[in-house]
Amino acid sequence: MSDSYDAVLIGAGVNTLAAALHLAARGRRVAVFERAQVAGGAVKTGEYTLPGFRHDWAAMNLSLFAASGFFKQYAEELTRHGAAFVPVSRPFSSSFPDGSWCGVSTDLEGTVARIAALSDRDAETWKRLFAAFPSEAPHLFGLLNSPMRIRALAYFFWKTWRAKGTAGTADLGRFLLSSPRRWLGETFESAQVQAMLAAWGMHLDFAPDIAGGALFPYLEGMAGQAYGMVIGAGGADTIVKALVAALTARGQVVETGVSVDRILIAGGRATGVRLADGRSIQAGQVIAGVAPSALLRLTGGLAAGFDARMRAFDHAPGTLMIHLALSGLPDWSASPELKTFAYVHLAPSLDQMARTYAQARAGLLPDTPIVVVGQPTSVDPSRAPQGKHTLWLQVRMAPGTILGDAGGQITADSWEQAAEPFAQRALDILEAHAPGTMAKILGRRIVPPTELEADNPNLVGGDQICGSHHLAQNFLFRPAPGHADGSTPIPNLHLTGAAVWPGAGTGAGAGFLLARRLAGN
Ligand SMILES: Cc1cc2nc3c(=O)[nH]c(=O)nc-3n(C[C@H](O)[C@H](O)[C@H](O)COP(=O)(O)OP(=O)(O)OC[C@H]3O[C@@H](n4cnc5c(N)ncnc54)[C@H](O)[C@@H]3O)c2cc1C
Repeated sequence: MSDSYDAVLIGAGVNTLAAALHLAARGRRVAVFERAQVAGGAVKTGEYTLPGFRHDWAAMNLSLFAASGFFKQYAEELTRHGAAFVPVSRPFSSSFPDGSWCGVSTDLEGTVARIAALSDRDAETWKRLFAAFPSEAPHLFGLLNSPMRIRALAYFFWKTWRAKGTAGTADLGRFLLSSPRRWLGETFESAQVQAMLAAWGMHLDFAPDIAGGALFPYLEGMAGQAYGMVIGAGGADTIVKALVAALTARGQVVETGVSVDRILIAGGRATGVRLADGRSIQAGQVIAGVAPSALLRLTGGLAAGFDARMRAFDHAPGTLMIHLALSGLPDWSASPELKTFAYVHLAPSLDQMARTYAQARAGLLPDTPIVVVGQPTSVDPSRAPQGKHTLWLQVRMAPGTILGDAGGQITADSWEQAAEPFAQRALDILEAHAPGTMAKILGRRIVPPTELEADNPNLVGGDQICGSHHLAQNFLFRPAPGHADGSTPIPNLHLTGAAVWPGAGTGAGAGFLLARRLAGN
């Protein structure tokens, strides 16, 4: 193994792995160094509770990856190396405290009937929005997949103007700036339909009143209706294992269990990295898949203005994960049909989501955390012993540093002590919606924000999206103005990962866009 490469990549997250594969396909010699024993970062699967129960450590929904430009280009190779998906026709639903529920499935009549049970007007609106989706989708997905430069934005608005005229373009601009509450309130009358869609904003950090958040409930709603969801066959790590296997088969290097502790800079340009075991790796390009603050630590600073931006990079509230091994799926009181949905959101209302978010932002353990209940074994039974199930609970929003408890009951101010009672609060919510679930628990593992960060330092304070996506830190401003393409003030040094446009998710957008820029296509 030579210790000089065309590119060295720090961390084996989906973005760096995708970048490495594209560069390798363009004839470059690359090496990826990952500090954890297992590659994947936020995309990992393991038996975290009991033998035979495979749990997705963090990401479960691979729709962004399966629909990505990167996967389209490398589908054949990755499939050959084992990437396999399970399509989900019933992607998401919500159960509400008053016993009502709603859900979106790829059969339009089914969704429309469920919405009509809450509001006939909203059912008609859903049909109208969905009919218009094919003409809206190219504009929006085009924007989200394109390199983020003023020119690209100008081109996007010019194309939109040609297709929609001045009034249509103004409408789209207003929509892109709208908060979830603004758009949902103007569009739907049922509080449940509004809440079901607003829950998607909470996967990022778009609480109902955050400007720029309307896009996500809209896109997840429409994409869920059109395409459903995709999860990994046997676990989300199917894509990581395939990426690593594809790189290895091409003779490239992916080493785990070795941390990069310094980015080497000489003559004003990046020249390689130093590993924690003392090795120096020389490379033409250094690609750091790390959080902005870590870039400063690895370099000691790059340029005053840029460094200040990296220091000011804002992280979103954290997540606490609960993995359950169960003897059976929850018996949802609202409807047995809820067992068939990949996600059941326990996000009661726009007002509660807004309160929960504000509490977490203020450092308080929310009195009513928002719970995303993932039921992967409802569609992929291979993840558990026969007849048994796993449950994936994403508890949103959890403060990275605990300053108090909005519920007034938990006195602990460290996650070591607060994890158990806070997780219990989330489990009590689950039990209220699906009585008897606690009695079905065979094994469990609670992962507080601090442990998410210890496993993957990119998740600062347990921030699952590696940086807020609020407007001031998105589009041209992610991670900082002038650097949304992953460039840094130092030649040959690049930042990638969820902190860089187009941001979080398994879509590998930042890594693929960067690799294409470096490879010239
Ligand atoms: C709890 C949770 C749930 C999520 N759910 C979903 C979901 O369902 N669907 C979805 O699309 N997205 C989801 N996401 C978001 C998505 O998983 C992430 O945005 C995405 O995987 C981040 O990829 P990345 O390339 O930025 O790297 P990361 O996954 O952040 O990985 C970075 C890697 O770099 C390594 N590293 C860091 N510093 C060093 C160093 N100095 N030396 C060596 N290695 C280093 C880390 O150990 C880590 O392995 C979720 C995230 C979390 C945390």
